[in-house]
Order: sequence, then C-alpha cells, then structure tokens
Amino acid sequence: MSGIIQLLPDHVANQIAAGEVVQRPASVVKELVENAVDANASEIKLIIKDAGKTLIQVIDNGKGMNVTDARLCFERHATSKIRHAEDLFALHTKGFRGEALASIAAVAHVELKTKQEQEELGTHIVIEGSKFISQEVAVLPKGTSFLVKNLFFNIPARRNFLKSDHVELKHIIDEFERVALAHPTIHFVLISNGAEIFNLPSSNYRQRIVNIFGGKTNEKLVPVNEETEIISISGFIGKPEFAKKNRNEQFFLVNDRFIKSSFLHHAVMSAYEGLLKDANQPSYFLYLQVPTHTIDVNIHPTKTEVKFDDEQALYAILRSAVKHSLGMFNVAPVLDFERDATLDTPYAYKDVKSDMPIIQVDSTFNPFATEVEAKTKSSNSGSSYSSGNTSYKKQELQPSWESLYVGLKQDSFEVESRTFESGEVVTSSLFDDEIAETKTLLYQLNRKYIINSIKSGLLVIHQNRAHQRILYEQFLTNITVHQAVSQQMLFPLCLHLGREEVLYLKDLQPNLEGIGFVFESIALDEVKIVGLPVQVKESEVLDILNDLIHNLQQNLPEDSFSLSDSIAKFMAKSIAVKSGKIMNETEMSAIVNSLFGCKEPNFSPFNQPIFITLTTEELDKRF
Ligand code: ADP
Ligand code: MG
Repeated sequence: MSGIIQLLPDHVANQIAAGEVVQRPASVVKELVENAVDANASEIKLIIKDAGKTLIQVIDNGKGMNVTDARLCFERHATSKIRHAEDLFALHTKGFRGEALASIAAVAHVELKTKQEQEELGTHIVIEGSKFISQEVAVLPKGTSFLVKNLFFNIPARRNFLKSDHVELKHIIDEFERVALAHPTIHFVLISNGAEIFNLPSSNYRQRIVNIFGGKTNEKLVPVNEETEIISISGFIGKPEFAKKNRNEQFFLVNDRFIKSSFLHHAVMSAYEGLLKDANQPSYFLYLQVPTHTIDVNIHPTKTEVKFDDEQALYAILRSAVKHSLGMFNVAPVLDFERDATLDTPYAYKDVKSDMPIIQVDSTFNPFATEVEAKTKSSNSGSSYSSGNTSYKKQELQPSWESLYVGLKQDSFEVESRTFESGEVVTSSLFDDEIAETKTLLYQLNRKYIINSIKSGLLVIHQNRAHQRILYEQFLTNITVHQAVSQQMLFPLCLHLGREEVLYLKDLQPNLEGIGFVFESIALDEVKIVGLPVQVKESEVLDILNDLIHNLQQNLPEDSFSLSDSIAKFMAKSIAVKSGKIMNETEMSAIVNSLFGCKEPNFSPFNQPIFITLTTEELDKRF
C-alpha cells in the first residue's frame, strides 16, 4: 500500500520558502543588492517604481555569471558561496543559503541579464513564477542586472497585504541605507519613480554616513575605536544633545552586515545613561568585527539576527568604548546629571526681580465685631491678597466652563492657583473654610494634574491629555475650514531632514499648509519654511516634523480624511504640555477654560480619559 506523504514539487517549495525570505519589496531589494555586493561590484544602481510593487531593478558591475550559472542561480539551494557545513562558520559573504533568487522567481516576473568580463556575450533569462520563459544570448556590459516585476502577482493575499507606497518605500530605503553604510567604498545610486534619491560616491565611513543622513550629521558625530582580541569596534556615535525621538539612526554592522541586537543596543544606551533628556535616542553607527567562528548568522532567514559566542564580554567592551568616547570628546561633562531639577527656577521667573511681600493690614479690623461682619471682611481682603510677583493672583473666568461650577456664588467666582509638589502641605487653604467655599482653586499636583475644586467636590485634570484635546480640535478646525493662522517668519527657517522625511513631507505639504505651515521650498537637501502654525515654536519645528513623519509612518492612515485627522492628532501629541512641566496659573486656567470649550472634553484624541471628578460623598466615605 502506498503512503500518503509526497515530496512537494519545486515551485511549491519555492513559494513556501518565499514566504520567509520575501515579505515585501524591500526584502527583494535586500537580497539583490547583497548579491551585487557579494559579486564584488564597485557600482550598484537600484531602480524602483511604485515602491517596488511594479518594478525593482538592481544593476551591478560585478563579476557576472556564465550561462550555466545564470540558469542554475534560480534553483533552490544553489549557491556559489559555501560548499561545506564548516563554511558556515567562516562566512565573508552576505548570502550563503542559495534560496533568495529561487524564492523571488517563485513570486514575481524576473529578468536576468548577466555577462562575465572575459566573455564576449552574455545571457538573458526570463522566468515567471518559477517557470522558465526564455533564455537567449545577448550583447551586454560586464556585470548583472536583475529586474523584478509584479511582485506577488500569483499570491493576491500577499499583494493586498502590502502597505501604502510610503511605508514600502521607507522599508526599501532602510535596506538600502543598511547595505550602503556597510560598504562605503561601493558607489550606490537609488532612483525611485524616475527621481534620484541617493547618489553615494565611493568614500570612507564618515563621509558615507554624512552623505546618507545629510551635511549636518558631521558635526554631531564622535568617533569610537576599541581593539580587543574578541572584537574590534569602530564607527561613530551621536553627541547626546542631538539625540532624537526615533531610532532611525541606529546601526550595528557586524562583519559588514547590518544586524538588530537588543543587547548591543542596551549596552550603548547604558553608556549614555544620564546624558539624554526624555526618552531621546542617540544616533550610532557602530562597526563591529568579530572572528567569523564566534558568530552565528544562520539563525534567521533574513540574517538580521545573529548569535554571538560571548555576549557578556561584548556588552561590557561596547559599553566602555562608547563611554570612553563620550568622555574623551568632552561630551559628557556638558550635561550636569547630578543636578536636582526641582531646584531650578522655572524659566518664567528667571529674570524677575523678587519684590518684598506687601503685607496688608486691615486698619478697620475690630476683633469684637460680630461673626458675620468678620466673615464678609475676610473674604473681601482675601481677594486683594498679594505677595509681589508670586503666583497668588486671581483671574476672571471665561463663561465656557461655568457648567461645572453651577451653584457657586457668581459674585465671588474667582480662580486662585498655586503650584505644589506632592507631600507639600498648603496649610492656608486646608484651614480656611471661607476660601474653599467661595473660590475655585487651581493647583498643580505632581507636575501632572490640575486640581480644581468644584461645587460637588474635586476635579482632577490630566494636563497633557487636556492640552492634546485642545490642540487637536484647533488643528482639525483649521484643516477643515482652511483658515489656519500662520505666524510669518522674518527669515526663512532652513531645516535639514533625512531624505525619507523630505519625500514624505512633500506628500504631506497640502495638509500641513492646512494647519498653518508655509513652505517656500521642499528639496532633498533643504526645507525652507516661511510660516508656522501659531501653536508651534520655531525652536521645536524640526523635532515636531520629524516626530509627525515618524508617527505617521508607523500608523499610516488609509484615506485623506484620516490623514488630516492623524496629522492633527500627532501634532497635538508632540506640542502638548507634557507631564512634568510646571505650569503657572495663567497656563492652567487657559487649559481648563479651553478644555471645557472643546466639543469632546472627556477624552484625549487617543481616547484616554482627560479628567475625573471626586465627589464630596466619595471623600466622606473614606473618612
Ligand atoms: P546566495 O546569495 O545565498 O548564494 P542567491 O539565491 O541570492 O543565493 O544567489 C544564488 C547564486 O547566484 C549566488 O550564490 C551567486 O553565485 C549568483 N548570483 C546572484 N546574484 C548575482 C550577481 N548579482 N552577480 C553575480 N552572481 C550572482
Ligand atoms: Mg543572495
């Protein structure tokens, strides 16, 4: 009786393998460009259309293939790079698994043109979904050209799963940058939809980094060098003050191969400890060389994850190398990380002279007057209480938040605000019944919440989320009614963004103009801005735009309405006052006022609750 197990036909096996190796156009780019590097090319040109969905072409001037190899390279496990299992531990090439071309040919239309230097004629092969269509002799220059069209033409599910062109292009640029960084002596060109995005001449490591990430990068870099027996480290790290919100400029290249490694990342981050503000990420471009037998790159089909023999030693060496560079180039002492931030004078008060408090004496005060009289007086004198420039001033309230305060006496409807840290007791108000009854107080708690007494008890507002909501609604209105107010700038602001960012910015231009940005020009090397939304500070523009682009790339909206919505959301998120910021009374009451003028004051644009109320009954229950 025959069994039920069968060997899968090659084209099916290839398609299955393709599932692992070819996930998106960028995977094809990676494999083809790496093959060109392995072929010792000194020039590699990548041409793509529609983010690689329509066309990916890689042209190299490397060693090429003869007729037999040109045919054989599409077979599974066909490789010229290893012969024995031991070779796996002495790898000097990018590829070795011999499955990339077989996989790509299984899920696309592929054309190969290749010629070796010593031969007169080359070979031209056409293959579609693993099926050989034609093979001809052709007149060709030295080297190889792979043309991949209609990726996933035979796997609609895969094709449908591809993200928008922006996202796919970003992945392609990521792969391109990784290989280009690892091989600075190779001349790389990237052309997307007819436009040249990168043209990187043969150079050294530092120039290559600068050519990819822009001229300004040079001044941000600090060299790292460390030689030990088990590893040699070279490359560059970014000065802490240039750290960014995203991780776009973090690269480990181990034995000329880009890899991802959370433990190496951790080692670098620990060297920066205390030097970075917020959750900023430093740039790093670190080239590690380890003996080939101490590393296993074969643990994942795309080879971006590797296993090292002695991770702990590498961690320690890397950390100290980075620390050493930060110290040596005098980067670390610029920031005084022992300082206690709570001792800082808030900016608003820095240049303000401290006045002597004015003590007001009520000359008409009569301790023997009746209780009622005394009460009226004390509440009156309370309203004129002043201590020079401190924050004990009163403010008139706008009508928009009245609803929360219905029931409070209108004639004594005032706000008083104070800032206090948790644990600090504000005695005067704790024991002053009159004030609590007749006035609404604004306190800031833990630099995070605005506390406000209302008729029914306490209102606790999350300052960051409240501000997000306010800004979000402002931006949305501006976009929809096209009436954004811009602050015109005296001199154009010239920004240097990464190429990916610039390309994306071009597409966002109409939406950004909707909220008040005015661009004079958007070019790969420079973006000139002549007008800003009123909510945006000039000093923050670069961070805000980088943040916005990064956020949109991560959470790409499907249609143009949700694009506007997302822009409003993420702009609001990056501009809103953060938790941790001390706010003065004016700022707090502005937030409270505007919040309750919003259409949806209950939830942040990201659907998180903005405030809670704590009723007197609830408080009573707890006593
Ligand atoms: P691998 O790179 O793992 O060997 P591939 O499927 O990517 O497997 O490629 C198969 C073989 O085809 C390679 O080993 C190499 O000999 C040959 N090859 C692929 N691309 C090129 C190229 N651009 N120039 C010369 N030879 C190439
Ligand atoms: Mg390969």
